[in-house]
Amino acid sequence: MTGINSFSSLKQFTDNLEEQEQLMPVVFVGHGSPMNGIENNPFSQRWTKLAQEIPTPKAVLVVSAHWFTKGTMITEMDFPPTIHDFGGFPQALFDVQYPAPGNPALARETASLIHTTKVELSHDWGLDHGTWSIVRHMYPKADIPVLQLSIDYTKDANYHYQLAKEIYALRKKGVLIMGSGNMVHNLRMVAWDKLNEPEYGFDWTIYMNNKFKELISNGWHDSLIQYQQLGREALMAIPTPEHYLPLIYTLALKGEKDNIEFFNDKAVGGSLTMTSVKFG
Ligand code: ZN
Repeated sequence: MTGINSFSSLKQFTDNLEEQEQLMPVVFVGHGSPMNGIENNPFSQRWTKLAQEIPTPKAVLVVSAHWFTKGTMITEMDFPPTIHDFGGFPQALFDVQYPAPGNPALARETASLIHTTKVELSHDWGLDHGTWSIVRHMYPKADIPVLQLSIDYTKDANYHYQLAKEIYALRKKGVLIMGSGNMVHNLRMVAWDKLNEPEYGFDWTIYMNNKFKELISNGWHDSLIQYQQLGREALMAIPTPEHYLPLIYTLALKGEKDNIEFFNDKAVGGSLTMTSVKFG
């Protein structure tokens, strides 16, 4: 790709992103184990199907649990590197490259939409496994630009909810906004010996999975933002917020007329859920 930084190609890109009749859906995807990135299993098969169900996006903007920063950043490079941000997995996982282009013009446009904070244009990140483990199953040709927006770890859920509302306009421009995390994510309590079972959740995991779906279905976003007040089970489900906050971004981007569809609605390893939701 040449000349993306030139004025003419910036203008061309912006012209191509004229508002469309159809809103792009917004999705929260439970990513689970990095192995889902290379396995052909029911979760990854559902990601492939998801891409076939929705319009082909102009770009994908991912809020990943694995880019947790002080301040908010967005990837601005022409070609974001594939980041292997994990340890102790087979070499095949480290060998994965996902060579999708970035889109610097869209990075700058997104940053300009956000007024809550000054968004930093980053050349220090790329695509972490929260992004590529999913997107490579959705768009295996790596021909759609992919960007990441980081999560400011100094801020609470309400801050992120308000910030996310500011990028709603991207939905009208054919950008697929995706949150990548896990609603229930407690690694300290994982039943490692049960991880390969197709479905295994502790009682409190099943309880919270149902609770999250009930709150999402009813649009009770305040309760989801104030998750610490949802009781002991919620604190077990969300011992740290990084895998939960991507859901908050997608909730904020839900439009009034959007349908709500859950998928990959399963608990794994006792204390994780893969439950995902599409708005649109
Ligand atoms: Zn993760």
